[in-house]
Amino acid sequence: MKEAQLWERLAEDRVRCHLCAHRCTIQPGGHGICQVRENRNGTLITLVYEQLIAQHVDPIEKKPLFHFHPGSGAYSVATAGCNFRCAWCQNHDISQMPREQHRILGQTVSPKQIVEAARASGCRSIAYTYTEPTVFFEYSYDTAVLAQEAHIANVYVTNGYMTDTMLAQLHPYLDAANVDLKAFRDSTYREYIGARLQPVLDTLKLMKQLGIWVEVTTLLIPDLNDDPQELRDAARFVVEELGPDTPWHLSRFFPTYKLTDVPPTPEATVTRAIEIGKAAGLHYVYGGNSRQSQSTTCHNCGEMLVQRMGYTIFKNHVTAESTCPACGTPVAGFGMNSR
Ligand code: SF4
Repeated sequence: MKEAQLWERLAEDRVRCHLCAHRCTIQPGGHGICQVRENRNGTLITLVYEQLIAQHVDPIEKKPLFHFHPGSGAYSVATAGCNFRCAWCQNHDISQMPREQHRILGQTVSPKQIVEAARASGCRSIAYTYTEPTVFFEYSYDTAVLAQEAHIANVYVTNGYMTDTMLAQLHPYLDAANVDLKAFRDSTYREYIGARLQPVLDTLKLMKQLGIWVEVTTLLIPDLNDDPQELRDAARFVVEELGPDTPWHLSRFFPTYKLTDVPPTPEATVTRAIEIGKAAGLHYVYGGNSRQSQSTTCHNCGEMLVQRMGYTIFKNHVTAESTCPACGTPVAGFGMNSR
């Protein structure tokens, strides 16, 4: 438990949190939408500082980040809590724990201990993931500062709902992010997630401006966000606002949590979505949880660059100068020539 950052005191001991776009106003004794920030006698505190609920060594490809030190390990950490309530959340047991179980579990692990564990395991990065890292900002920030001193990169896997104020504070330490673009209709965000689309788009653009390496993920859910026109609109946004080198991961949905009456995404939907992304001008579009190729090819000449299956890299042909060995076209990303 620790005093939170990024909040203001209002009249009558109420507080307003400026960590995410919900900007909750919280009465004394109350909690924000995420349920992990509490107004205690007019002071906002975070209930998840040093309360680690998950830590694993994952391939960076699992985040997914395909253009950031491919083949490296990401020391992956999370606390309980989320500012979204997606009906299809795969990690709802920990993301919705404070809201649904009215408790916050976690092991007391300091930022220094996380960095030491990441270094001992040989990881190239620390990934703040599984739940929404925005809601454990103070913990992730303190860890990220120490990680940078230890020459370990920092990666957010996020829903993109943080404020520009939070991102301004974090960005000197944040190297890469995978941002979920869960739909391209505000109505879907409101109905299924309890949020809005525009703040996510704003975050994506700001991350790009700040020089953070960004990859985008969209989980394709039948009849919810897989309309071709919606996907064309999303692809156009990524190309025009984030650039054609931005990787777009299009994953298959499988029934889970509160969305068990929707069938798995047909392979054909992923194929069509990939075609839409490429037709819009994106250089790197990948299918996830599917039979689609996971490999990276040169967008200019088609040469195989990084041969992947699932999260495993079989061959990396990218030159030491991060170019295609056949035609010399630059390969977008960071550390693409990792061996
Ligand atoms: S992080 Fe977001 S959801 Fe949580 S209290 Fe702050 S504004 Fe509300």
